[in-house]
Amino acid sequence: MTVVIAGAGIGGLALCLALERRGIEFVAFDAAPELKPLGVGINILPHAAADLAEFDLLDTLASVSVKTRELRYVNKFGQHILSEMRGRYAGHEFPQFSIHRGRFHAVMLDAVRQRAGSDRVRAGHRFESFTETPSGIVARFRGPDDSVVEVEGDILVGADGIHSAVRSQLHPADGGMLWNGIMMWRGTVEWPVYDEGDTMIVSGDMKEKLLYYPIAPGAKPGTMLTNWVLCGEISKGISAPPERESWSRRGTMERAHPFAKNFRIPGMDVLALIEATPEFFEYPMCDREPLSKWGTARTTLLGDAAHPMYPVGSNGAAQSVIDGKRLAHFLEGRDPVEAIRQYEAERIPTTSAIVRSNRQGGPERVVDVVSERAPNGFDRLEDIISREELIAISKGYAKMAGFSLNEQRA
Ligand SMILES: Cc1cc2nc3c(=O)[nH]c(=O)nc-3n(C[C@H](O)[C@H](O)[C@H](O)COP(=O)(O)OP(=O)(O)OC[C@H]3O[C@@H](n4cnc5c(N)ncnc54)[C@H](O)[C@@H]3O)c2cc1C
Repeated sequence: MTVVIAGAGIGGLALCLALERRGIEFVAFDAAPELKPLGVGINILPHAAADLAEFDLLDTLASVSVKTRELRYVNKFGQHILSEMRGRYAGHEFPQFSIHRGRFHAVMLDAVRQRAGSDRVRAGHRFESFTETPSGIVARFRGPDDSVVEVEGDILVGADGIHSAVRSQLHPADGGMLWNGIMMWRGTVEWPVYDEGDTMIVSGDMKEKLLYYPIAPGAKPGTMLTNWVLCGEISKGISAPPERESWSRRGTMERAHPFAKNFRIPGMDVLALIEATPEFFEYPMCDREPLSKWGTARTTLLGDAAHPMYPVGSNGAAQSVIDGKRLAHFLEGRDPVEAIRQYEAERIPTTSAIVRSNRQGGPERVVDVVSERAPNGFDRLEDIISREELIAISKGYAKMAGFSLNEQRA
């Protein structure tokens, strides 16, 4: 069997690694002329780390990331709402990593190339179209010299991200990206260690939020490479995104300032943090309506191509890794048509539920609820919300997304 993969991002490479482990042939094509370590910080939750352990990548990843110890929810004034231990600190078998997306991507790409051969991941090939017969697929890519490269295989997997061309061919009537009016500014900067250097802070509410987490030791002593995300509501209601979403569109202080200035967290100068960031990016918070079917008999989707979601609850990259591992699992020793059917039957309900939950804030709804009830802060948290209510929100999400402690996947 040969699996043809369009897109060698986080999910596409996870699929490559999982196929390599099972001795299944594959070849992946990516549109980028060169596969560079791009992006800012992301999180790998314990359920995805379990899959990366199967790929023998945990030690390498640990050397370029932070094993997150605590997730702390506070309001805009830094008043404490809820703390959760994370990863092994919470009793999971595997850690939670906070890591630079580019480093994570580079670790996986190196592993695929070393284990399977450098020609298995080909840059500079943009997927354009496919045809399918009862016995296989032919995928067409636009190559670096503008020629059309035709590739035959048993199945085609669209792992080509938020603007998936595979999804466009499969679902021409798809309603497109949906924007909730919130703009996100995201950056990384070497910054003095906050707290113990392994704490993630979520502050504010859905309309004006700050996420802050270290992703690697800094070059200078006493510093950490620190990731921040600032969210601000700049438009009301659901609409098409203001511009085509691009992971590399630069943000400006002028646009971020009206939101950044409202955070008064003791020991954390948010304006100074943003001002010190050499370059940061602007990205609208978007998703798509979940699909009831991703592909056909011999094509399917994974990661953002299948289920783009708001980046709350740290699940985007994790779910794409799990998609890759589960698809490879079903392909092992099975007829590919049956494998795709089983993969979609398992993954569509879970990922659709996460997309929908993230629209309501996911686990970060704990800060929304407190902000709604006490916008100017509180004297006693228990007058605003009970601990049981807070834990129900956070644990309910972990259970649904498959990483609660009594809900470990096989
Ligand atoms: C350059 C870049 C930077 C990112 N930075 C961040 C970030 O800072 N924070 C964050 O949370 N998420 C970021 N993401 C998205 C994040 O990687 C995904 O949300 C998540 O990891 C799911 O992974 P994925 O494999 O589905 O998608 P992605 O990781 O986005 O991978 C999709 C891949 O498909 C390729 N591709 C696109 N169109 C085609 C085509 N027609 N033919 C062939 N290949 C194609 C892209 O070049 C890309 O390599 C970034 C993605 C990219 C591509």
